[in-house]
Amino acid sequence: MKKESDLMQKIVSFSKRRGFIFQSSEIYGGFGSCYDFGPLGVEMKNNIKREWWNEMVRSREDIFGLDSSILMSPKVWEASGHLTAGFADELVECNKCKKRFRKDLLEEDRCPECGGELSEPRKFNLMMKTFVGPVEEDASTTYLRAETCQGIYVNFKNVLQTMRAKLPFGIAQIGKAFRNEITPKDFIFRTREFEQMEMQWFCDSKDADKFFDYWLDQRLNWYYGLGISKKNLKIYEVPKGELAHYARKAVDILYNFPFGWKEVEGVHNRGDWDLSNHSKHSGEDLKYEGFYPYVIETSVGADRSLLAFIAEAYQEVEGGRGEKSVKEVETVLRMDKRLSPVKIAVLPLVKNKEDLVKKARQVFDLLKRDFNVQYDESGAIGRRYRRQDEIGTPFCITIDFDTLNDDTVTVRDRDTMKQERVAVDSLTKYINLI
Ligand code: ATP
Repeated sequence: MKKESDLMQKIVSFSKRRGFIFQSSEIYGGFGSCYDFGPLGVEMKNNIKREWWNEMVRSREDIFGLDSSILMSPKVWEASGHLTAGFADELVECNKCKKRFRKDLLEEDRCPECGGELSEPRKFNLMMKTFVGPVEEDASTTYLRAETCQGIYVNFKNVLQTMRAKLPFGIAQIGKAFRNEITPKDFIFRTREFEQMEMQWFCDSKDADKFFDYWLDQRLNWYYGLGISKKNLKIYEVPKGELAHYARKAVDILYNFPFGWKEVEGVHNRGDWDLSNHSKHSGEDLKYEGFYPYVIETSVGADRSLLAFIAEAYQEVEGGRGEKSVKEVETVLRMDKRLSPVKIAVLPLVKNKEDLVKKARQVFDLLKRDFNVQYDESGAIGRRYRRQDEIGTPFCITIDFDTLNDDTVTVRDRDTMKQERVAVDSLTKYINLI
């Protein structure tokens, strides 16, 4: 147990030290479990989102993209069931210190903070309320969306018609969601503001089971393809009695986080709950050829999956990896090249030789349009390699004295540490091929 929490501690401090993740409003002491993605974190999160989008939208003819607004009519949330008890956590309150806790996450019957007696559980809604317009009154109350998919359902007809779609088809979107979580925990695992990547697959009810299995499979393969090992992923079917208000079936994809097996993605059969309720509440007919399609949903947090990808990739090597022996522990982020925040580091062998620096700058300019490239000339070359290994940069390109004669550079691979001599004019091709 100690070891696991150590690893999480390391990941948290590494994430800050190397510019991946900062606490929100840090100079004011932080704010309510919100986090900011630093220069490397935003690159990595964008890479995750791009991989998801490529897989779920661009590589398919039957899934369409969408970017709906965060603020919607409050009627959406009445229809979806989020404003009623449906979207609520069961909370217990400590009679002594008055703190509230989620009942399902408590391990004991007494308050985990002060040992006090706990109240009977009560429902607490997770929607974040806000006001639209100049007056803070009931008529102007709405909510920050708690899931991105409602924007998809209310646009079902728009997409169906404008894309001339035929069942089965899907609509996908990536965007922020907000939940007033009572026990936000485990760094960016559970936060109050997060980003979801959701796809809603509309199909005939008789095909729902088949597509459920298909999408579960597709989603598992997405993780495997991006370097998550099979041993660190498993599925868990949510028992009938614990299903969310909209779900007919739910399977969680669990990742083996340093703090235990936890959900990273949910695959749900939402039946016709959403389309039929929006039809009823809006008066708009959302049937397709006379029936309400069923919805199979795949829903993953961009931030939560980023934590899984970092946890999977984070490795410490005692005494270094032998390139030049070092005393300290060396960190390597062995992540899929497509997710690495920096793709290439361009390194002149030494910084005080004008020709070398000029050439390195040229190589940097050549590559920067196609890749995220970092230029670094400070410190010994081995130290610079290690700095790049630590943030998962797959390629280090070194410009040395031979470069000035034959226009070739060395390309060093992060994982094998092998170096290959490559001509400058074929660098883009070379890197794209690997
Ligand atoms: P939990 O039981 O952990 O509260 P949930 O079952 O309510 O989660 P869903 O509504 O299925 O979660 O959300 C789909 C996905 O959105 C989750 O698998 C997760 O990746 C992400 N997600 C949900 N809530 C949060 C949160 N508070 N912080 C970060 N990501 C979240």
